[in-house]
Amino acid sequence: MPVVEVPGFGPLLRQLRRDSGFTLRQLAERSGSHFTHLSRLEQGSDRAPSRGLVERLARALGPEAGSRLAAAAGILTEPTERAVARTHRALAEPVFAERSLPALRRIDAGVLAESLLRKAPSRGMERDRVNPTVLCRTLGIRPEVRAGEAGPAAVFDGDTVRICDPGDPDDAAAVPRVRFLLSHAAGHALIGNRECTFPRMADEEAFALDLAAHLLCPRALIERTLRAVSSELDDEARNPWAARSGDVVTLVAERLAVPGWVALRRLADEALLDDDALYYSLGDR
Ligand SMILES: [Zn+2]
Repeated sequence: MPVVEVPGFGPLLRQLRRDSGFTLRQLAERSGSHFTHLSRLEQGSDRAPSRGLVERLARALGPEAGSRLAAAAGILTEPTERAVARTHRALAEPVFAERSLPALRRIDAGVLAESLLRKAPSRGMERDRVNPTVLCRTLGIRPEVRAGEAGPAAVFDGDTVRICDPGDPDDAAAVPRVRFLLSHAAGHALIGNRECTFPRMADEEAFALDLAAHLLCPRALIERTLRAVSSELDDEARNPWAARSGDVVTLVAERLAVPGWVALRRLADEALLDDDALYYSLGDR
């Protein structure tokens, strides 16, 4: 199967509760929450569970169940955040091999993005991710988008990001590219570096790249989109013997209005594609 099934929070909670042998009432008591609230969550309520509730459920159901619930809710639990804060400090150490460092940086960028998304004012958000134009304005970055010009894709210098897109002004495919480059510039600004000619793969360049991808496709959103896309695909596309993971990536990219490689990378980072799909799509990363 090219695409990993992602159970929603409600069905997962019900399954883990039953595996532990608790009734709804028992779990409500053990986690200090209300019976009807848990019942609604299990039935797939639109309201996301709070971080506090997920942490109490984790204590009642055990650490493994807890981390699965936290992932399904798109929440970082406190022990995870503490662990990653240690990773962040450890990244400065010179002991990491070249191969593991990029992966650790991506985790680091993901955590930074998730905490920014939690703090972002609602007017800067659209469907659980940042609006790059608003984020740039908040950071004092002036975007200048020029269509049909040659030159580097984006030049970010101080308070201006100049984006030269090779497409026509009304080219629909230009929208995801421009959105990505704006959030990439914002990613630079957020890590205190306001200079970039894209692409230029210095250390902080890779970090800003990953941060931008996370800001546009946070885990919870990419999981929901994958669920929606998977239920839309016909039976043939779900056939494990038919290599159609490319279709899935394309659909996810279209829905989220991000470049295809961003969707692919985020699906891969969140382990939502299986190894075969990754091998054919990315080679040996
Ligand atoms: Zn850059």
